[in-house]
Amino acid sequence: MARKAFIAGNWKMNMTAESGKQLITELKPLVKGAKCEIALCVPAILIPAMVKAAKGSKIKIGAQNVHFAKSGAYTGEISADMLKEYGVKYVIIGHSERRQYFGETDETVNKRTLAALENELTPIVCVGETLEEREGNKTEKVLARQLETGLNGIEDITKVVIAYEPVWAIGTGKTATDGQAQETIAYIRKKLGKLFGVRNANKVRIQYGGSMNANNCKGLMAQPDIDGGLIGGASLKTDFATIVNYDK
Ligand code: PEP
Repeated sequence: MARKAFIAGNWKMNMTAESGKQLITELKPLVKGAKCEIALCVPAILIPAMVKAAKGSKIKIGAQNVHFAKSGAYTGEISADMLKEYGVKYVIIGHSERRQYFGETDETVNKRTLAALENELTPIVCVGETLEEREGNKTEKVLARQLETGLNGIEDITKVVIAYEPVWAIGTGKTATDGQAQETIAYIRKKLGKLFGVRNANKVRIQYGGSMNANNCKGLMAQPDIDGGLIGGASLKTDFATIVNYDK
């Protein structure tokens, strides 16, 4: 089953309009020949300027969160309509930093994911275990819970991208080994098969995220169940283009 590779950057709370524009201008020629799908998920306030900067290139702009209500009294939040108005195509949902610092739960991940899909945004739903959970042999149990609740009620799972991001590997420089990432992502696909049917599960793109960089991307991308990457730190520099060109 051929799944188109998808490399997405997560700028988190980094960059300004000026530095972001400069990086995208440098990336554009470097990613010209890439075969994979490419996105940069940028801070909300930078979206209009980055959409403009990326115009005419393969780089699509994504957001880092979306609220589940259409509009209303949700100070500080951003709706799917607002994102779409500026040409946003993707939205990261349930990143571990949102779960850790901003009270995101599997239930809110589910509501946001359903809202994104209703509005034709592609959700990149993040799941992953902490170091304590991995060492306690709880990885599969945690992932099963995150997937069962976070993806509850989704009609077409093939429109969702999953990012497997072991929390212990995010921003730590401690990447999962190729084997660990493959084994866990294969488990995620098996679980998706149970929830949505094997045929559908085989069409879902699953990214690996967690200190993926220009040096380790080739090995990770060579794994049969890994369809892309969600890249934090390395998406803030032109290394991102090296990852996008992992197959060259
Ligand atoms: C992330 O923020 O999703 C991430 C994977 O970060 P890093 O690549 O810096 O580990």
